[in-house]
Amino acid sequence: MVGDSQDNSKHRVSRLIDRFSNLPASNSGSISTSDGLSGSISRSGICQMKFPQSCCGGTGYVLFAENATLSARVCDCIKNCLVCQGQTRMVIDGTARSCVEPSPRKIAGIMTNAQLPARYLNAGFDTFTNHSGNGRQVAARMQKWAQTFSPNASTGLLIGGSVGVGKTFLLVALAKALAARGFSVCFADFFQLLSELKAGYSDGKADPHMMAPLMSCDVLFIDELGKGRNTEWEKTIADTLIAGRYNQKRPVVASTNYGLTADATQAVSFNIDLERSLSNRSDFSPEVFGSLESRLGSRVFSRLRETMEFTEVTGDDFRRRGARG
Ligand SMILES: [Zn+2]
Ligand SMILES: [Zn+2]
Repeated sequence: MVGDSQDNSKHRVSRLIDRFSNLPASNSGSISTSDGLSGSISRSGICQMKFPQSCCGGTGYVLFAENATLSARVCDCIKNCLVCQGQTRMVIDGTARSCVEPSPRKIAGIMTNAQLPARYLNAGFDTFTNHSGNGRQVAARMQKWAQTFSPNASTGLLIGGSVGVGKTFLLVALAKALAARGFSVCFADFFQLLSELKAGYSDGKADPHMMAPLMSCDVLFIDELGKGRNTEWEKTIADTLIAGRYNQKRPVVASTNYGLTADATQAVSFNIDLERSLSNRSDFSPEVFGSLESRLGSRVFSRLRETMEFTEVTGDDFRRRGARG
């Protein structure tokens, strides 16, 4: 019986659409039928997505944090759309078309598969507020990168800067902006990624099934590049990812806490001494010292130079600033 009533309602909706199809282009407004079916669609075949919606801001999908990573679903405004009946596509003149491109269903799928960290649910270029340094300019640069990104063309981005300036936030904002344009993104914490790959590797090689999505997504995001012990094996993995993707013209966007400049490289011997002298202190973290080149080695570093635009974010540690009130 449920199936019957669904069929019946589909028929009524298509009759409603038929009636709209006969209206002149300028005609708009709400319509209701004698059998009680009504809708606020403005013309034939115009999906709810074409109208501003407060529920999802008109995007047609909603992000939510249930697990360690973000998920997304198609918004109720689309599910309840009388025109496409939540399909986000419809048949016009015998041809199936998406109501909008890219379809919210596709974007929600990309967002859910991207492995974006859940604590960055609200991260976006419009919600980035750490403007104590050059954050505003870097955010604008990254936003432009997202807007002009096209597959097979863009070089990657490497975002340096000290702990707490908002690098991960900006990376997630960029990943979301690309996903919203329909590009597939995957997000990985470098240190965690290495441990996962290590768990799945044998004969000195990473599991190709684990590497495949990292190689094939449109943009790979690597957070905290250089973190870890950086053994030869780990450097080889980094090189495989970065060079492999570069050869396929697929960029990497990465963040690092380590220095990007030659100065930072020269300062590393000083930092190593400092590291030794401070290493008995309980609040000491060796991760904040050194240059990326010294950690990853010159082979991987020169690959980064070749394939990425380097940008350094400056500013206060907003986590500490927050703690101080
Ligand atoms: Zn619709
Ligand atoms: Zn909505």
